[in-house]
Amino acid sequence: MSYLKTEYEIVPTESFCVIRGCSGCGRKTHFRNTHKFRVNANGNRLDVWLIYQCENCKHTLNLAVYERQRSSAIPKAAYEAFLRNDALFAKQCGQTMSLFQKNKAAVDFEQINYSYIKRHETTETSSPNTARALTIHNPCGLKIRPEKQIAEVLGLSRSQVRKQIAQGTLLLEETDFGKALKLYFRDAPFDENIADYE
Ligand SMILES: [Zn+2]
Repeated sequence: MSYLKTEYEIVPTESFCVIRGCSGCGRKTHFRNTHKFRVNANGNRLDVWLIYQCENCKHTLNLAVYERQRSSAIPKAAYEAFLRNDALFAKQCGQTMSLFQKNKAAVDFEQINYSYIKRHETTETSSPNTARALTIHNPCGLKIRPEKQIAEVLGLSRSQVRKQIAQGTLLLEETDFGKALKLYFRDAPFDENIADYE
């Protein structure tokens, strides 16, 4: 028996947003990417920051991309992108989780817009009882509940997803240290005991 294997990837559509107390307006607020870099040269060492800004008072938050880095260690293309405030590059930096971790800046996961991009679709052979398999990759580690991801990709409601999981027609597995969900669609419930669940 052959089955269809589909892979999706969750891709943020904009920069991550930082949530923290602002020393400018004294509120707990959101800081957003200005898509501007600040480059500071000191001898042969470079500091590069990506500038975030409080959405209330425009107070800035500098996220260190490089600190006291030897200029020779920064690729020329990257250096030029910093100098011209390359918008795409600034957006990519704003979606790099390690940048926020390094700067101890809390990302507000509730504020992230994302979409699902289909990466691959292949037909595989020999997997008894499995009509279809689906993998959803989450390389940025966005905090989205598994049944929400499945509902969004399949165009179902979350309760329909939960029901299918309970019925055994949908089998769910987390892989890659929580950065991917694997789903198997089964034609019939594999556990007779829950076959008449309803
Ligand atoms: Zn502020």
